[in-house]
Amino acid sequence: MITIALSKGRIYKETLPLLEAANIIPVEDPEKSRKLILDTNQEDVNLVIIRATDVPTYVQFGAADIGVAGKDVLLEHGAEGLYEPVDLKIAKCKLMTAGLADADLETLGQNGRLRVATKFTNVAKRFFESRGEQVEVIKLYGSMELGPIVGLADLIVDVVDTGNTLKANGLKPIDHIADVSSRLVVNKAAMKMKHEKIRGIIEKIKAAVEKNA
Ligand code: AMP
Repeated sequence: MITIALSKGRIYKETLPLLEAANIIPVEDPEKSRKLILDTNQEDVNLVIIRATDVPTYVQFGAADIGVAGKDVLLEHGAEGLYEPVDLKIAKCKLMTAGLADADLETLGQNGRLRVATKFTNVAKRFFESRGEQVEVIKLYGSMELGPIVGLADLIVDVVDTGNTLKANGLKPIDHIADVSSRLVVNKAAMKMKHEKIRGIIEKIKAAVEKNA
């Protein structure tokens, strides 16, 4: 049995054609079903539908053999015990810092430690450490854009696509931290134990990605 971990929404929609190229077709639509485990046309392949941030954990512990996760999620998780064999080149965006549109970057942080609100606390800590800056990182679970507006934080770290959400909330992008796209991740032990089947899936998905490029 091969178990593939996916999250609903954008990643699922954009991964579906790539799975189809590997002749893996779910028999149900997770957007319409409450089931967490979905059968596919292949008797020995199923999908588990979980939160995007849980995908690396499922694959790391072997609860899923394969998963699709954003690079943002992988950077935050640490992605230990995982192979990352294919950049699927879908769900692209950027991890960035952002602050108030009228923030003076020269004086930001001069009155004490910068406060950074984010759900990507590990990414934020590493980024500011790499610049030799000591910051206070405040964990949030969503709506990070509100942080600087209400005075909770000076900066946020968030994923940005068009930048429209930042703009609509009076914020501007500041530092580029990393480019993000979804990656195929594979459990290291499964890669050895189920080599032939997993290799076949990886190669077909890789070919489909290259065809789209
Ligand atoms: P934007 O186009 O910058 O206004 O992005 C809209 C919102 O969608 C942002 O606040 C992000 O949180 C989210 N977003 C955009 N692209 C992605 C992505 N590839 N993965 C996850 N979240 C995203």
